Amino acid sequence: MSGAAGNQLSLRDAAIDVVRRLQEAGHTAYFAGGCVRDRLLGHEPEDYDVATDALPDAIKRSFKGTRRVGESFGVMLVRSHGHVIEVATFRADGTYSDHRHPDEVIFSNEHDDAARRDFTINGLYEDPIAGLIIDHVGGQADLEAGVIRAIGTPDARFEEDHLRMLRAIRFAARFQFEIETDTAVAISSRAGNLQGVSAERIGQEFRRMATNGLWGPAMRLASELQLAGVILGEVAGPSDWPRCDHLDSCDPPPSSTRFEAAMAAWLLDQGEAGEDCRELIGDRLVLSNQERARLDAILSVHERVGAEWEEAGVATCKRLASSAVFGVCLELIRAVDGQWAASIESRVEDLSVSGLSPDPLLGGADLLEAGIEAGPGLGRILDAVYDAQLEGELEDRESAIELALDLASRGFAGG
Ligand code: ATP
Ligand code: MG
Repeated sequence: MSGAAGNQLSLRDAAIDVVRRLQEAGHTAYFAGGCVRDRLLGHEPEDYDVATDALPDAIKRSFKGTRRVGESFGVMLVRSHGHVIEVATFRADGTYSDHRHPDEVIFSNEHDDAARRDFTINGLYEDPIAGLIIDHVGGQADLEAGVIRAIGTPDARFEEDHLRMLRAIRFAARFQFEIETDTAVAISSRAGNLQGVSAERIGQEFRRMATNGLWGPAMRLASELQLAGVILGEVAGPSDWPRCDHLDSCDPPPSSTRFEAAMAAWLLDQGEAGEDCRELIGDRLVLSNQERARLDAILSVHERVGAEWEEAGVATCKRLASSAVFGVCLELIRAVDGQWAASIESRVEDLSVSGLSPDPLLGGADLLEAGIEAGPGLGRILDAVYDAQLEGELEDRESAIELALDLASRGFAGG
């Protein structure tokens, strides 16, 4: 089939085409790792990795538009029908003196390439042309049994790369699999020691943990295996009895704030949601400014709802309820107090009838036009007028201007 414009192949078909071309050139080539696992579990993979015995130069010759990822590792990005497929030469990893990167990479055969992978469920190949699964590590049986098992000797594999401890937890939580006993023992015996793993990599792993799959089980496992202390340091709660009330029960739908919501839930469970701890977690996980701002917003609105909602007037409730993070806050409240969440929700429904965040009747220019003096007090008058609008006290622009003039004449804008 041709890849004519307007007739773009699916990601999978584009990846199959890469395998086909390598095989036609006389090479062994398979899908490898996560994409094979995901398909066998019935999920459509988000990306496809191809493993092959073709050396990087041969891969380059077989395709137009290849790019190297990390020169020395010989991984190539191949463009295929508008998609990008990662193609890597079978390799065996050398020793890991920094607990993170193999000291050298040796191009090798498919057996070694499967053996260097972390868990059996991640060590499978698929030949999509022959329609075969190639399993050198017992991955299929573990997939069927729902087991996360280190390939080879667990102690040695985690010693090579400490990040694999977090990966084990992430996959266990995501697929609701059990971590096999020897693998779990190897993790807990060195948990809390993420030596050689940069804060960026830990942060990245937590992001993936929080965004796909259930975060309650993921964070609970992280706590139980004493990895919580690595992130929260001295403010982490006791690992033998982690409180996960918010984490266990709160599972908002995927959204742009899902990661921050998970972090908020965790801090609330630790009873450490104050500004110091937000900053600490921001530094430890190398959160972006945007992520820090969202985490702050969630925890501030959550705190204000807790402190003010029951006594608050219409305007305050409307302002809170129209905050971008209100939905997440409501889910966090529901996790520990379903009844209260339901009563908040029903009040929001009532308030929505008159509009939670209607367009303001007045802007700064209207006040100036009405003869009110420019200055910092304008904002205060606008806020008060908007509050009155939210309370339902103002019908139209005229009554809004009347109120603004009245406030100005009473010196409301002044210090
Ligand atoms: P995800 O769906 O989260 O991307 P994945 O299994 O595809 O899961 P990747 O990080 O994309 O994870 O890695 C692709 C493959 O590379 C894995 O399936 C695994 O075989 C191998 N791999 C990745 N990271 C490691 C690691 N730290 N140690 C050993 N093998 C690894
Ligand atoms: Mg992947």
